[in-house]
Amino acid sequence: MKQLRERILSDGKCLPGGILKVDNFINHQIDPVLMREMAKEIVKRFSDHNINKIITIEASGIAPAIMVGYFMNLPVLFAKKKAPSTMDNMLVTDVVSFTKGISYSVCVSKDFLKEGDRVLFIDDFLANGNAAIGIMNLVQQAGATLEGMAFLIEKAFQSGGKELRSRGVHIESLAIIDSLDDCQIKLR
Ligand code: 5GP
Repeated sequence: MKQLRERILSDGKCLPGGILKVDNFINHQIDPVLMREMAKEIVKRFSDHNINKIITIEASGIAPAIMVGYFMNLPVLFAKKKAPSTMDNMLVTDVVSFTKGISYSVCVSKDFLKEGDRVLFIDDFLANGNAAIGIMNLVQQAGATLEGMAFLIEKAFQSGGKELRSRGVHIESLAIIDSLDDCQIKLR
């Protein structure tokens, strides 16, 4: 998507370890106009799917997910990283965090992810696919169907995209980064 690609090139910064910092328009400060346009593009790319719920993981997936949910007129469910004491009826799985290098549990209530649900997963980044695989796990536990996954930015030099596509998942990424070597952003 042209607008996102241009913004990555003008405002994105490389950090050591293959991390792209986009915290002045996605991850800390958010550009709602760009977020709206990205959401419209995701809605278009999944227009032939019969989706009844958007799912994401807190925190950085929530902003794009809520915009997509708004345009699709669908509820947005976010997996929580810490089980709240008020939640007893949960589905739980473990996810390895790419940026923090630790494993954490994510959970959703069985009240909100159920058999028969047809969900679209939204996240800011696709790196090794751990967050996405965690969500697939929760969807499977619930007996729901994963209709697809949409990412704002896919880092194609990491394994997630290949792994998820090999599992037959419909993946859409609005910008694909082929390399961040030598702190140069190479977009596909
Ligand atoms: P994965 O689970 O695919 O390995 O990593 C995806 C998650 O890690 C995303 O939800 C995102 O929050 C974070 N992440 C992965 N790579 C990057 C990156 O290059 N920049 C930022 N800001 N976050 C990333």
